Amino acid sequence: MKDYHCIVNGSPVAISQTFDVLNPATGEVVGKAPVSSEEDVKYAVKTAKDAGVKWSALSDGERRETLMKLMGVFEENKQYLAELITKEQGKPLFPGGPGSLAEIEMSMGFTHVPLSLDMPTEVVFENEAKRAELHRKPLGVVAAIAPWNWPVLIAIWQIIPSLRMGNTVVIKPSEYTPLSTLEMVRLFNEVLPAGVLNTVSGSGSVGAALVQHKDVNKIMFTGSTATGKKIIEASGGNMARLTIECGGNDAAIILPGTSLEDKAPALFFGCFINMGQTCAAIKRLYVHEDDYDGVVGLLKGMADQMPMGNGLEEGMIFGPVQNKKQLDIVNDLVEDAKRNSADVIRGGSPMGGPGYFYPITVIGNVDNGHRIVDEEQFGPVIPVIKYKSVDDAIAKANDSQVGLGGSVWSDDLEEAARVASQMEAGTVWINEHGMVDPMVPFGGMKNSGYGLEFGVEGLKAVSQPQIISIKKAVPVEA
Ligand code: NDP
Repeated sequence: MKDYHCIVNGSPVAISQTFDVLNPATGEVVGKAPVSSEEDVKYAVKTAKDAGVKWSALSDGERRETLMKLMGVFEENKQYLAELITKEQGKPLFPGGPGSLAEIEMSMGFTHVPLSLDMPTEVVFENEAKRAELHRKPLGVVAAIAPWNWPVLIAIWQIIPSLRMGNTVVIKPSEYTPLSTLEMVRLFNEVLPAGVLNTVSGSGSVGAALVQHKDVNKIMFTGSTATGKKIIEASGGNMARLTIECGGNDAAIILPGTSLEDKAPALFFGCFINMGQTCAAIKRLYVHEDDYDGVVGLLKGMADQMPMGNGLEEGMIFGPVQNKKQLDIVNDLVEDAKRNSADVIRGGSPMGGPGYFYPITVIGNVDNGHRIVDEEQFGPVIPVIKYKSVDDAIAKANDSQVGLGGSVWSDDLEEAARVASQMEAGTVWINEHGMVDPMVPFGGMKNSGYGLEFGVEGLKAVSQPQIISIKKAVPVEA
């Protein structure tokens, strides 16, 4: 059984304790991950801080040139990293579809684009007497706390903009899916200067030790709202800057009479991509009462065609739920819906072991006020809610403490845009859902968090603005 290592200062850290990482499709041990001690966390942060002296002094062009070498590392290790994701996270390799190979390909896009964007100094004010320039400086050490649903992709969202802007990074992957991140960072360290990108590993307490460290200047977090709130508290001691992405409970509204033939795959995968374990996936679907039978029939028919199983086997589209805790959340919400007269149109019970398999599930006869609608299920279950008027659908979609994504589905793009503008969500897609793009800023409203990722805004969020205000020389009159 392979032992995986944290990398600090370019070298593997000696291991004193490990934990087993399980394959959620089989229950077998994939590998042993290290548990970082408090001393390991301190060593990683100190290393990152020290390495930041040289890294931040490089020109933007020099850093970009070095970081572009990561594209080659990805290219050479695509299959290896994708298989590791499948083994520990569960999503199938699924060539050509949204599986682990796509996770690596998307990670490459989210590496290339932030390295390609220009970030020139902005002249924010100028007249005859004065010029004020806005420069962007590194913040220092970035603590990155990543989740288990897209372990490599979300780590890349945190790592690449941070390094590009001259910061150094210590990342803690989720204890459910640490191996692909530990291996990616090990491989990246073959081309990066020692100390600029480091890993620690273990449970939430290791993450807590990292984010509380006084030398951490910025925290990038993706995970639950409950942990997000703890991180906000931890940041106070040091006034560490924050980017907090806490998931959501995304609503989709299909406007009355919308033709779905051409939109069906986007709608289906908008709900069930990665077994619904995606921050911006459709978690509540609002459908006009006249269209309800057609929509639930369409989703059920598509689900019946989709193979589910061990993602290393050829032809699989869906894998297991990632972990037992998440399976229990999904099961609990569906059981609650059943007790409250929900109509289980497809699925609705765990499939039994080995592995944490749960069928693609479509639930009807539910409404706001049912837990399956009000709470984020983060699993392969979609509650379909009938509405009578579009205003009613908008009000119900907005009746939530969270607001990450949303979508409107219609053949009339103008009407869809009118409805989209009334939705309380950081991103509202039209006729698709969750299609994040490395050029387009992404972030939440309400309890979904704050701070933007991606694009130029994402680069700004990992930098310290500094104004240089220049008083111009006034010509002396002769
Ligand atoms: P958590 O918020 O607990 O985990 C996210 C990350 O935070 C993990 O790396 C975790 O480590 C780490 N962490 C936990 N506690 C702390 C702490 N006090 N300080 C710093 N880091 C900490 O999410 P869960 O894995 O428990 O999932 C629970 C729910 O969160 C899901 O049901 C889903 O609703 C939501 N979620 C949302 C995601 C998104 O993409 N927005 C992704 C994953 C989950 P460790 O895993 O080792 O405990």
